[in-house]
Amino acid sequence: MKKLQMVDLKGQYEKIKDTVTQSMLEVIDTTAFINGPEVHAFQKELEEYLDVKHVIPCANGTDALQIAMMGLGLKPGDEVITADFTFAATVEVIALLQLTPVLVDVEPDTFNINPEAIKKAITPNTKAIVPVHLFGQAANMDEIMEIAQEHDLYVIEDNAQAIGANYHFKDGATKKAGAIGHVASTSFFPSKNLGCYGDGGAIFTNDDKLAHTIRGIVNHGMYERYHHDVVGVNSRLDSLQAAVLRVKLPQLDQYNKARQEAAQKYTAALQNVEGVTVPYTEGAADTHVYHQYTIKIADGKRDALAKHLSEKGIPFGIYYPIPLHSQKAYKDDRYREEDFTVTNQLVEEVISLPMHTELDDEQISFITETIADFLKK
Ligand SMILES: *Cc1c(COP(=O)(O)O)cnc(C)c1O
Repeated sequence: MKKLQMVDLKGQYEKIKDTVTQSMLEVIDTTAFINGPEVHAFQKELEEYLDVKHVIPCANGTDALQIAMMGLGLKPGDEVITADFTFAATVEVIALLQLTPVLVDVEPDTFNINPEAIKKAITPNTKAIVPVHLFGQAANMDEIMEIAQEHDLYVIEDNAQAIGANYHFKDGATKKAGAIGHVASTSFFPSKNLGCYGDGGAIFTNDDKLAHTIRGIVNHGMYERYHHDVVGVNSRLDSLQAAVLRVKLPQLDQYNKARQEAAQKYTAALQNVEGVTVPYTEGAADTHVYHQYTIKIADGKRDALAKHLSEKGIPFGIYYPIPLHSQKAYKDDRYREEDFTVTNQLVEEVISLPMHTELDDEQISFITETIADFLKK
């Protein structure tokens, strides 16, 4: 059996090695390391793929979120509602900008932000909602957009984990995750579904004015050379990373399909195992691109299973082990435990299995049989 890995970057690289090294060498040859033609070409190609008017590349997914919030002109004291069950980057940038994070609970089946909890958290100071499309599946954007419209709020999609996923609206329309809200962010961190070979990120929007504002912010607030109209940041995607992403973007649908196929095999083998809850997908299979394949383990057996997997040489991840509202940096007297019952339970039950584009049947069988055998005991 091939060595089990949580993410197999090397196996994927081997298949595109010639093209990707050639592209990188060409960038080095031209020495256009910053804002070279590769960055611009990638931007255009991603705009087309996502069907959004503007993609603004930047240095990483965390910057992308921060810059989106700066672009919207959010001010200290403005309240921003986001999910309690997510990677800390989301709440981190809210706090860094001195906005007020308002964490709310998620749904037990999709792990995504709960629209009812959003409604309850809205106050006159609320300015934005940040749904995180967790583990590769878009949040309930039908309801979130409706709530936003009713209360005149911005929607900033954190799409770091769901690039390429489709979202099917109740009225039959389909859009790519990240092309729905006022603005969205993504990350090209190597292990993400569209990963580069270092750090990278991007902001998407259909709003011309906001796109213009953001293009200045990423470049020190400059709209005209050496005229600094607003406080900006330095956040760029390297030409070398853009060259990698230009090779990988045309493969993204295939990569996501490989993840979906692996997920189907996991689910087929695990769905009838007592004590396991397999991931839930709403409707069509293309709505989930499985950044993670995350199951829930009942009866307090998660940690024992994790230990057993370690002993068998099976990698796993616990995403996420601590609710954000309980993290030292983000604790707040306003939060009440009874408002986070789902997150508090998920952190005890979730476990993510190896998920990448190179998983084979033998590996999946070994992993699922090991889990089934352990839980039978
Ligand atoms: C990875 C990730 C980020 C941050 O992206 P970086 O490129 O690592 O800065 C933000 N939000 C979520 C949900 C992520 O998974």
